[in-house]
Amino acid sequence: MSNRYFNSDRNHETYYSQSHSENWEHGGPSVGGNFQANASGYFNQGQSFGRGRGRGRGSHPPGLSGKQIGLFYRDKSKKKAEKKDTQTYFSLNSSVERNVESFLDKLKTPYTQENNGNDDTTMKNNKLQEKYNCIQDSHFKRKYLDIVSGNIQYNLTKSMLLSSKLHQNEKLDEQLLDKQKQRQGLDGYIKMMKIREKLPSFKMKDKILDLINGNQVVVISGETGCGKTTQVAQFILDDEIERKRGSITKIICTQPRRISAISVADRVAAERAEELGDSVGYQIRLEKVMCRDYGSILFCTTGLLLQFMQGDPALRDYSHIILDEIHERNTESDFIITLLKQVIQKRSDLKIILMSATLNSERFSKYYNNCPNIHIPGFTYPVDDYYLEDVLELTRFRFPPAPKLPNNYKKHLKKFKEIKNKVSDYEGFIEPALRQMEHEKIYSQHVINELRNSNSEVLNLDLIQSLLEYICQTKKQGAILIFLPGIIDITNLNKNLLSSGYFNSNKFLIYSLHSRLPTNEQKMIFKTPMNGVRKIIIATTIAETSITIEDVVYVIDCGRTKLSRFDVNKNIETLEPEWISIANSKQRRGRAGRVQTGEYYRLYTKAREMTFDQYPTPEMLRTPLDQVILKAKILQLGQITCFLSCVMDPPEDRAIELSLDLLRSLNALDSNENLTPLGYHLAQLPLDPRTGKMILWASMFSCVEPVFSIAASLAFKDAFYCPLGKEDEANKAKLELGMGQYSDHIALAEALRQFERAYHYRNAGHFCSKFFLSQNTLKLLMDMKKQFAKYLYDMKFLDSDNPNDAISNRNSDNLAMIKAIVCAGLFPNVAIVKRTGKFPALKTTEDGNVKIHPSSINAKANQLPTPYVTYFLKQKSTAIYLHDTTCVDEAALIFSSSKCSIKRLGPRSQITLNDSISFLCKDSTADMVQKLREELDKLLEYKITHPGTISLDSHGGLVIRAIIELVSNANIQSPNY
Ligand code: ADP
Ligand code: MG
Repeated sequence: MSNRYFNSDRNHETYYSQSHSENWEHGGPSVGGNFQANASGYFNQGQSFGRGRGRGRGSHPPGLSGKQIGLFYRDKSKKKAEKKDTQTYFSLNSSVERNVESFLDKLKTPYTQENNGNDDTTMKNNKLQEKYNCIQDSHFKRKYLDIVSGNIQYNLTKSMLLSSKLHQNEKLDEQLLDKQKQRQGLDGYIKMMKIREKLPSFKMKDKILDLINGNQVVVISGETGCGKTTQVAQFILDDEIERKRGSITKIICTQPRRISAISVADRVAAERAEELGDSVGYQIRLEKVMCRDYGSILFCTTGLLLQFMQGDPALRDYSHIILDEIHERNTESDFIITLLKQVIQKRSDLKIILMSATLNSERFSKYYNNCPNIHIPGFTYPVDDYYLEDVLELTRFRFPPAPKLPNNYKKHLKKFKEIKNKVSDYEGFIEPALRQMEHEKIYSQHVINELRNSNSEVLNLDLIQSLLEYICQTKKQGAILIFLPGIIDITNLNKNLLSSGYFNSNKFLIYSLHSRLPTNEQKMIFKTPMNGVRKIIIATTIAETSITIEDVVYVIDCGRTKLSRFDVNKNIETLEPEWISIANSKQRRGRAGRVQTGEYYRLYTKAREMTFDQYPTPEMLRTPLDQVILKAKILQLGQITCFLSCVMDPPEDRAIELSLDLLRSLNALDSNENLTPLGYHLAQLPLDPRTGKMILWASMFSCVEPVFSIAASLAFKDAFYCPLGKEDEANKAKLELGMGQYSDHIALAEALRQFERAYHYRNAGHFCSKFFLSQNTLKLLMDMKKQFAKYLYDMKFLDSDNPNDAISNRNSDNLAMIKAIVCAGLFPNVAIVKRTGKFPALKTTEDGNVKIHPSSINAKANQLPTPYVTYFLKQKSTAIYLHDTTCVDEAALIFSSSKCSIKRLGPRSQITLNDSISFLCKDSTADMVQKLREELDKLLEYKITHPGTISLDSHGGLVIRAIIELVSNANIQSPNY
C-alpha cells in the first residue's frame, strides 16, 4: 500500500538544541546550577554569562509555588537527562579515514572549468548562474538554468517565435484530399462507416463542427459509447482536409490512461482503413507509433502533453487539442485545463475541445468563460436494477460470520475498540433500513439476517462467483462485466473461477481488463465470442468510461474503486478501496444496455447507495501535491500557491505547504521555491519524489537492483502478507529474508531477488508460500523495476535498461550502502532510538514517543544496533507506529539530509542535520564530512548537466568511492548503550 506519513510541523522543540551538546561535553548536568557554570564556562566565545544562564537553566515561570518550583526543575533536569541519553559519538576507524582521505586527495577539480559566457542569453537570474558557475557549460545545464530562471509568459512568447511544423501547402492539401477520397471507396472503410454512422455523435457531426469552427473553446459531453473519443477527432480532421487545410491540421487527443491511448488509436486507424503511423498515431511514455506531422491525429496520455509543453509551451506544432475524459478530474487534466487558459491568450488559432462523459460538463464551460457546451444524447436500452438485497435473495448466499466481541471485551476495551466501533457504526447505519425492509415484507428473513452481518459490506469474491453461476444458469446469452477495485482482486477472482469446475470449460471466455494489461491481450476483449460461449470480463474502473465493450448485457458492480487519498490534517496518504459516487454508478449501469436490455447487479444495498457522493472528488484534492508542484516548476509557472489558486477546485493551503516542506527537505526545491538539480530530475520521473530520489541515487551508486525492489515495493505495495493466526511464522520468514540487517527494506529487496531466481527456475509458487509472499504482487513489482530501468536509461543515468545489468549493480551486495540510499530517500523520516533493549523506546522530533509496529523485523530485536531508524510509513492507531523500519547510523544520515551544519566545540565538532539531529565527532571527521557533502552536491549538480554514467576513476567516481568507503565502514559508538 502506498501509504506515507510525514510530519512537517517544525515548530516543535527539537531535542538536539545547542545546550544539549554542551551537556554532553561535561558529562551531563545533574543539578541546574552546576551545569550552568560549566556550560557558560565552556562556551565563553562570544557568549555572555547571562545568555548562557538564560538558556541553560532559565528561571521558572512566574507564579509557581514552592513545590511547583521544585517539580518544574525536576522535570526540566529529567528532560535534559533524556536528551543526553540519546547523544552519540561518530567515530571513524583510522584506516577508513585514511582511505576516504586518499580518495579526496586524488580529486582534481574537473567541474570548475570556466564558463565562457556563451549561455548568458538564456540566463535571467544572475544568482542562480553564480550558484552553478562551477559547472561546465552544456546543453543540459542551459536547459536546467532556463527552467529555474524562466517564467511561462516569457516562454510562451519565445515559443511563439519558433517555427511551427504546420505550414499551409496547397499541393499537400490537394494530395491529402485525393487520398481521402480514394480511401472512402475502400471496402474496409465502407464497412466501418456503416458502424460509425449509427453512433449518436454522427448525427451531430455538423453541429459539432460548426461550433468548433466558430469558437476557440468548446465542451462536448455525452453518454459513454456515443462516439466522442473515436469520432470527434476524425470529424475535425476530415473536415479540415475537405476544406483544404490538411497541411495545417494536427490534432492531439489526450487520454487519462496508456491503455486507452493505444486502443483508441488502433480503433481509429481501423475505422479509417489505415495502418497506424499514417494519419493516426499514439504516443505514451516508452512506446509510440508516430503519425505524420500534418493532417493527422495523435492520441497520447495527458502526462505526455504536459511533457510536450515543456519544450513548446505554445504547442506550435498542433492546431487542435482535445482533452478527453476530463470528467475524471485527474490531476494532470485539471492541471492542463488551467495551463491552456494561458496558452490560448497567445495562440488565438489554437482550438481546445474538452470532452466529458457525465452531466457535470457545465462546470468546465463555466471555467472557460461560459464557452459553448454541446451535448450528444446517447441511446441505451433499458437496464434492470438489482441491489445486494436482491442478489442475496436470488443466490441465497451466506456471508462468513462477522468478527465477534468476546463477552469480557469491556476488560480489554483498548484491544477490541476498533472492532466495536466498526460493529456499532454498521448497526447504526443498517438497522433503520432493515426495520423498513421488515415492515415492507418484500425480502425474506434470510436477506435481512445476512444484511445484519457487517461482513455484507466486505468485498466477497465467493458472492460474485455465486451470482455469476446464477446468471449463467438462468439468464440468456450476453457478456458479463464485473467491476472490482484493483488488479489483485481481479487476479484472485480469475484464479477462483478457473479453479472452479463450473467456469473452467470451453463455454466461458474469461478476460481481465486493467491498466497493466498488455495491448495484444486487450484486443481480444472486444471480440464477440462464438455462439454458446459466454464472455466474462473482470475489470477495474477503466471499463467505466475509457473502454466500451459492446456486447455486455450484465454488469456486476462491487461498488468500490481504489482511490488514493491524502489527509492533510493527519498528513497521511492511503490507497484504499472506497465507495464509488453516484456518477460512477450511473456510468457502470450504462455499460449494460449497449446492445439490448441489460441488467445491473450492485453488490451494495440501497441504503448504502444513499450515502454515496454525487461526483468523485477531484484527484488534486485528495492526493499529495509533490508531483504537481514539481511539474509546475518545470513548466515555470511561478509561485505555486498562485498557480494552484487558479485551478478549478484549488487545493487547501496546508496541503500545498506540506508538499513544499517535503520537497525542500528532500532538496528538490531550495528555500526560494526554485527547482534544484535533483528536483529537476525528479520532475521527469513518474514517481513520488522520495522513491524517485532513491532510484536516482541507486543508479549513481551502482546498486540498482535491490534499491529498485525497495522503491517499487514502497511506491506500490509490499509483497508480504500475514495470514490470521500465522503471524509468528510470517514474521520469522520475513526475518530470514532480512539477513540480520535490522531492516524491513532489505527484506523486501531480498524477497524480490530470491523470487526472481525462483521464478526463473519455475519454483516461484513454493518460494512464495514458504515466505508468505504474494506472487501477483511480486510479478507486478518485477515489471515496475523494468520500467524504472527504462526511465533512467532514457534519462542517461544508466547504461542499460536492464535492472540486473552487471555495471549498474557493482555495489548491490553492499547492504550498508543500500540502507544509506533508502535513508536518503526517506529522510526526514528518521526516529531517534532513546533506549534499546527488548522494548526499544524511540522518538521523533515531531511526535515525541513512537513505537515500532509488530510487523516490522525490528519490533522484537533485543538490541537495535544503531541510534537511528528510518521509516516510510508512520501511522497512528493505539500508539504512533513506524510500520517499516531500517536501522541506520550517522554515516547514512550525513548524506541524506539537505542541510548540515558543523560547529567546533574545542577538541570535538558537532554535526547538526536539518536542525533536528546532531552528534559529535573528531574535528578531522567533521572536515571530511563537510568536504564529502560538498563534493556530493557538486556531483549531483554535475550529473544534471552531464547525464551519463560515472566512471570509477573520474572525479565523480572518486567521490562516490569515498562515500561508499565511509558509509560501509563507519563505526558508531553510542556511549550510553
Ligand atoms: P465515447 O468516447 O463517447 O465513450 P467511443 O468513441 O470510445 O465513445 O466509442 C464509440 C463506439 O465505438 C463504442 O460504442 C464502441 O462500440 C465502439 N468502439 C470503440 N472502440 C472500439 C474497439 N477497440 N473495438 C470495437 N469497437 C470499439
Ligand atoms: Mg471516450
